[in-house]
Amino acid sequence: MSKSTAEIRQAFLDFFQSKGHQIVSSSSLVPNNDPTLLFTNAGMNQFKDVFLGLDKRNYVRATTSQRCVRAGGKHNDLDNVGYTARHHTFFEMLGNFSFGDYFKRDAIQYAWELLTGAQWFNLPKEKLWVTVYATDDEAYDIWANEVGVPAERIIRIGDNKGGQYASDNFWQMGDTGPCGPCSEIFYDHGDHIQGGPPGSPDEDGDRYIEIWNLVFMQFNRQADGTMVPLPKPSVDTGMGLERVTAVLQHVNSNYEIDVFTTLIQEAARIIGTQDLSNKSLRVIADHIRSCAFLIADGVMPSNENRGYVLRRIIRRAVRHGNFLGAKDAFFYKLVAPLIQVMGAAADELKQQQAAVEQALKAEEEQFARTLERGLSLLDDEIKNLKGNVLDGETAFRLYDTYGFPFDLTEDVCREHELTVDKDGFERAMEAQRQRARETSGFGVDYNTLIRVDVATPFTGYDKTQQQATVIALYQN
Ligand code: ATP
Ligand code: MG
Ligand code: MG
Ligand code: MG
Repeated sequence: MSKSTAEIRQAFLDFFQSKGHQIVSSSSLVPNNDPTLLFTNAGMNQFKDVFLGLDKRNYVRATTSQRCVRAGGKHNDLDNVGYTARHHTFFEMLGNFSFGDYFKRDAIQYAWELLTGAQWFNLPKEKLWVTVYATDDEAYDIWANEVGVPAERIIRIGDNKGGQYASDNFWQMGDTGPCGPCSEIFYDHGDHIQGGPPGSPDEDGDRYIEIWNLVFMQFNRQADGTMVPLPKPSVDTGMGLERVTAVLQHVNSNYEIDVFTTLIQEAARIIGTQDLSNKSLRVIADHIRSCAFLIADGVMPSNENRGYVLRRIIRRAVRHGNFLGAKDAFFYKLVAPLIQVMGAAADELKQQQAAVEQALKAEEEQFARTLERGLSLLDDEIKNLKGNVLDGETAFRLYDTYGFPFDLTEDVCREHELTVDKDGFERAMEAQRQRARETSGFGVDYNTLIRVDVATPFTGYDKTQQQATVIALYQN
């Protein structure tokens, strides 16, 4: 019998505790100390100030299983869901952290011991590949000479992918501040799966899957670009719980691990469909996790900021349910099985089950009123379309009259191998704003600004209590 997701999460924390790490709880999906971040998207977020030396803890080693959302914002995996075997909007990132304590050698040795140790994950060594940053000879030597990974499975990755430091193997917190090379660990799921090794032209497949990223915070980048070595380098690592679980449960896709098999079966039962392999069920199983956990962490569906990202995800899920033939509100019914299957990770969600279900149900019922009509309009447009691009005016009409977020229209079109004219959509939106300005007599339209609420911890939904900082136009 292979280990369950819950057991694997615990084994990770136990392993690092046995190596002197403090087990720290996951922080909220709404970052409370970082107005530049839409949602918590990595284990290191809650330790940002510790890495910067602005905050001190009574431990120098920590380990966490951090809930993360990568939808909207800088890391946006929403469009990958349903298309790759390994991306979710919500996932748990297992991490170990050294705050100026151990560095490369120990970080690499710990990772290898956990993955291959007979009492731990016991993975076959020949299935593991590693990457290092192109010029990081130190990490290369540790992997090659101390751990003994054969040279043909150690790949050097430069920062030539799309500009300076855009590669996966150089990490930085911002334009200035701590940064450094990464070393990533990949698992080869076998030659029956499509995809090439890391760094190859077809690396984007699901054969060689990145399971763990080790970040070596080594420099402090100055405003003028110079990199000053940090006196006490640090370590930040992140391993996708669902991805390592897939490996340990001998399946290629995250959507086949225990958590997702259960959610997919429940969704099929609730909606009343038989085809368990349908892509829409995977999307729904993914989206219930981000939506339920976001609401539990205080985000509510709305037309701006975080609330709009949440609304987009809910509406997408509802559309996929409609596609599968759901007759009534179904999405909120997945909260109960979700709590069941997430074990200890759902403790806080469980406290708020009723409120979360109610918020989901209300949003679903509201959208259901316009969904059918919007979809039939879109259907007609697609049938009569000449070429393979849907015009922006139609996408805007769907948005404005039927409540279709742009990416929902895009999602439907993608299934018909069509794209949507985003510039045209934005022009139509701008034209409407212009009309609104003219009629209101005000020069500024605050609806165009994406704001992220900061400084005030979540105390309810009363907007006037919250201080808001305008950070960017169209952040997503
Ligand atoms: P990928 O290249 O596969 O998109 P990444 O390099 O963006 O992953 P990191 O930022 O390095 O990911 O995050 C650390 C780990 O978290 C990854 O190695 C992976 O195991 C996991 N992970 C990242 N994004 C996702 C996601 N959207 N869904 C599930 N797991 C993820
Ligand atoms: Mg990614
Ligand atoms: Mg990557
Ligand atoms: Mg990575």
